[in-house]
Amino acid sequence: MGAELESRLAGVREGIAGAASAAGRSADELTLIVVTKFHPASLVRELHGLGVTDVGENRHPEARDKVEATADLGLTWHFIGQLQTNKAKQVARYADAVHSIDRPELVSALSSETRTIDGFVQINLTADAGRGGTSDADLEAIVERVLDAPGIVLRGVMAVAPLDADPRAAFATVRRASERVQKLAPNAQALSMGMSHDYREAILEGATHLRIGTAITGNRPV
Ligand SMILES: *Cc1c(COP(=O)(O)O)cnc(C)c1O
Repeated sequence: MGAELESRLAGVREGIAGAASAAGRSADELTLIVVTKFHPASLVRELHGLGVTDVGENRHPEARDKVEATADLGLTWHFIGQLQTNKAKQVARYADAVHSIDRPELVSALSSETRTIDGFVQINLTADAGRGGTSDADLEAIVERVLDAPGIVLRGVMAVAPLDADPRAAFATVRRASERVQKLAPNAQALSMGMSHDYREAILEGATHLRIGTAITGNRPV
């Protein structure tokens, strides 16, 4: 694994730097979140050895187990997957950021008087409500809920580009939604968007947090 992982990571870092420079942006303003779902904690440890600081997971309890197994590394953990309300309290105990906030019940469940997490409101760019994310019409309402919730600092918005659409256009839609959010929350400027196949387009549209899995880790084990 070692040398291949290192060269894939280097390739993605170069791709990020190239897209940032094409966009007239500094790569320093971008947070690379390496998505390690389905991979063992040993891979997270290797990534840390290669300078990775931010890791993403999409399922509880897989995420919890990896956080525990690598607690000595001081990593920043991003929960990026659809989250059931009954698991949210547990996730809020170990995640540093939750990117998939999309409904009022989830805000209440993540909210805490004793621990603070970063929050991103997920926007659904498809017509399929089952894909997670808030509808366009509900965006302001959910943002206001997060702003009122103790223990969640609203950082911005998150989205997954639909497979069948032009990613650049999809990310432009997210950027416009972010402008609406910033009217209510001027500091919530982060844009969590861009995956292995579309992170360049995301950077061109202003992404600040890239969630990249397979381009770095290789294919996920089944
Ligand atoms: C798995 C996943 C990613 C990473 O996907 P890759 O195509 O492997 O880069 C990013 N965001 C979310 C929400 C995911 O579930």
